[in-house]
Amino acid sequence: MEYQIKTIGVLTSGGDAPGMNAAIRAVTRAAISNNIRVKAIYRGYKGLMEDEVKEFTTQDVSDIIHRGGTILKTARSEEFRTPEGRKRAYETLQKEQIDALIVIGGDGSFTGARLLAQEYNVPVIGLPGTIDNDLWGTDTTIGYDTALNTIVECVDKLRDTATSHERVFLVEVMGRDAGFLTLSAAIAAGAEAAIIPERTPVVEQIEAAIGHGRRKHKNSSIVLVQEHAIEGGVQRVAQLIEEVHPEYGTRVTILGHLQRGGSPSAYDRILASRLGCAAIQALLDEQRSVMIGLENDEIVYVPLSRAIQQKKAIKDDKWQALQVLSI
Ligand code: ATP
Repeated sequence: MEYQIKTIGVLTSGGDAPGMNAAIRAVTRAAISNNIRVKAIYRGYKGLMEDEVKEFTTQDVSDIIHRGGTILKTARSEEFRTPEGRKRAYETLQKEQIDALIVIGGDGSFTGARLLAQEYNVPVIGLPGTIDNDLWGTDTTIGYDTALNTIVECVDKLRDTATSHERVFLVEVMGRDAGFLTLSAAIAAGAEAAIIPERTPVVEQIEAAIGHGRRKHKNSSIVLVQEHAIEGGVQRVAQLIEEVHPEYGTRVTILGHLQRGGSPSAYDRILASRLGCAAIQALLDEQRSVMIGLENDEIVYVPLSRAIQQKKAIKDDKWQALQVLSI
């Protein structure tokens, strides 16, 4: 071993995701059971720069596995994007005698972690925590399954009212620049179509979506729209539909931050627990600058560079399934 890791720091960064608490719990307890001290860092990189640090015992993570959000809070920090900001962060690591850092977040958080590792030779491990599921190298990310279930539950409720009216119901779904949540939710909720950024041109997708509803002689249809699939978002989609088909009324529902909330699903709790334990094992195995992922139910170590740079692809069979099943 290069040097013995006596103390780790753990933080959550970027958007919060259900299951982050289960990951914090797992990291804390796995570390302590390997005689490694745990320092919890509040408010992501902002807290790291400002030394918002507290030592955790196993009791500090009691009674959190079922809670959404993150007890460590999360933040977005512009300053950490600068070399000066990362210098401040490193100074806190030195002051707190933190030998390695575990970052729970998405690709932006990993980009920052990787820079810190390169500039100051700090061992960092990433845990994929984002509802978007847009990280390459892991089948799913912590929070994705819960968010997916939340969206499906909301769309099911919308269906009850949709079937009573002759309208196109458009539901905006989160995902940053990825359509995983939108496509999977559309399949699970039996929607007529999903409009996602990975399939272009978007205008053709909209035409097809309306066509599906008409072919079925349905008097209403539900279309899920990824938040950044088109400039102007779901409102622009509504406008385009009404321009071409003035006979259709459209109704827009924006699920917004509802999608991030709620108690994590059993799947996310188990995923977070496995990945959290594996993060400590990875440090003991002298892994550095890797994300812990799950592929075909096996723990994998993915270089942070690949997790960030490679683009995870939408599964074509899923896209096809939605087209076939919505006729
Ligand atoms: P989510 O997918 O949920 O949005 P994320 O980790 O991608 O999560 P970001 O807001 O992109 O969320 O990043 C979180 C934080 O990571 C930023 O506020 C910033 O402090 C840091 N970060 C992001 N990109 C960089 C970068 N290029 N260089 C240094 N730090 C970065």
